[in-house]
Amino acid sequence: MASRVIPVGPFDLVIFGGTGDLARRKILPALFRRFCAGQMCGDARIISAARAEMDSAAYRDFARSAILEFDDNDACAADNLEGFLEQLSYITLDARGDTGWPALKGALREGPVQAFYFSVGPGLFGDLAERLHKYGIAGPESRIVVEKPFGRDLASAQALNKGLAQHFDENQIYRIDHYLGKETVQNLMAIRFGNTLFEPLWNAQYVDHIQITVAESVGVGTRGGYYDKSGAMRDMMQNHLMQLLCLIAMEPPAKFDPAAVRDEKLKVIRALDPLEPEDVVRGQYEGTDERPGYCDQVENHDTRTETFIAIKARIGNWRWAGTPFYMRTGKRLKARASEIAVVFKDAPHSIFGATTGRHRNILTIRLQPNEGIELGVTIKEPGPGGMRLVDVPLDMSFAEALGPDSGDFPDAYERLIMDVVRGDQTLFMRGDEVEAAWEWVDPIIEAWQEADSAPILYDSGSSGPDDALRLMHKDGRRWREIKT
Ligand code: NAD
Repeated sequence: MASRVIPVGPFDLVIFGGTGDLARRKILPALFRRFCAGQMCGDARIISAARAEMDSAAYRDFARSAILEFDDNDACAADNLEGFLEQLSYITLDARGDTGWPALKGALREGPVQAFYFSVGPGLFGDLAERLHKYGIAGPESRIVVEKPFGRDLASAQALNKGLAQHFDENQIYRIDHYLGKETVQNLMAIRFGNTLFEPLWNAQYVDHIQITVAESVGVGTRGGYYDKSGAMRDMMQNHLMQLLCLIAMEPPAKFDPAAVRDEKLKVIRALDPLEPEDVVRGQYEGTDERPGYCDQVENHDTRTETFIAIKARIGNWRWAGTPFYMRTGKRLKARASEIAVVFKDAPHSIFGATTGRHRNILTIRLQPNEGIELGVTIKEPGPGGMRLVDVPLDMSFAEALGPDSGDFPDAYERLIMDVVRGDQTLFMRGDEVEAAWEWVDPIIEAWQEADSAPILYDSGSSGPDDALRLMHKDGRRWREIKT
């Protein structure tokens, strides 16, 4: 069963920062794949605007090599590429000056949807917003897309929101968290709210705890300069992991629409109990004979930036009081693996006696690799020898259930950019959500800074510091193994 593609109408998409790393690796390949899928109509235009001096022909060469390097979808035939590139043009523009703005105004059409992707550092968001208005380019129907990081604390996030709000209404602002664009994350909502099976069990009475793991096997590589000013709490926990937590924990929204979904997510963040220092473990990876440690990859060798964080979070509401949410994320861990595991409570009484051991239902939502959903159920081990129980996975393989093409779903950027064009904000973060998330993590970051505390060192290729294991052990629980 091939996926159904509904073409979007004509649009002008301006990519500010169109020569940058994000445009090269993600935005351009994502747009190309939507073009190949037949979703971008021939009347769509993509205008890249950045500081570099070049003309549109040179930019098309740049885009061609980016797509050939980063688009790994063989289904996109090479002969599609030239057709796609024809829809691209380039303008040299200075976000902080006057260069390029009149040319940009001249290049845009009246009528089609207008979207402006701010693929530049957050320091330029305010400049771009201001000039889009000063030059009469953006109107009340225009949309802007902003990338992470959205601030580095509550105060800076508020300042960014305020800067954007001077020129754009909230319903024009699309704050990207690409985790929300992942197929499985949306499937999580379909599973929760499209079935009667899970929702009655989705609470503290039946769920023992929830684990969210986003593990990377790579270190910071060449991004040390950026990362050292950020760290795992700001770079991953405050946005991606907290967004996943919201989707797992939120009440059923009345409708699958932007206001209803985002209202429910916000309520979760506001219901989080304040973090206590003993609920948080910070780590930093050490080097091996072959690979340098984090502190050798950044300028400040005494750096106290964390590359790992584990948190025990509690949600103070009727649904979740008593069910902890354990979240961890880190670099240079055992494997690249991200998953959410909903661990249900033991059956209240075992009719099979103590010898059959402990069995639990676990619903696992795998984000990477092999996006998919798995439900662990207990059955009788086949064969003679009495009642022996064994846990087996009910694996929801999209390919088996829906046909071989069903695994070719769009990646997060493809879906999110098309949502911008369609004007659907459901999978984007609202300003108040972002601020509430900073409000929750800020006191812990401030406490580290005040105490000048150093993260605990952990071995590259491990599961993180032992203290993170103890965070669960002391509650009589343990993390699931990080494996690909
Ligand atoms: P980059 O440094 O590679 O590119 C920055 C772009 O901004 C370039 O095209 C540059 O020409 C343009 N630019 C800089 N100053 C300008 C000015 N004064 N006027 C006009 N254009 C100017 O950055 P990037 O890695 O592409 O990141 C862009 C944004 O996306 C950042 O906010 C970053 O935090 C975010 N982001 C990046 C990634 C990634 O994987 N690269 C992932 C998530 C979020």
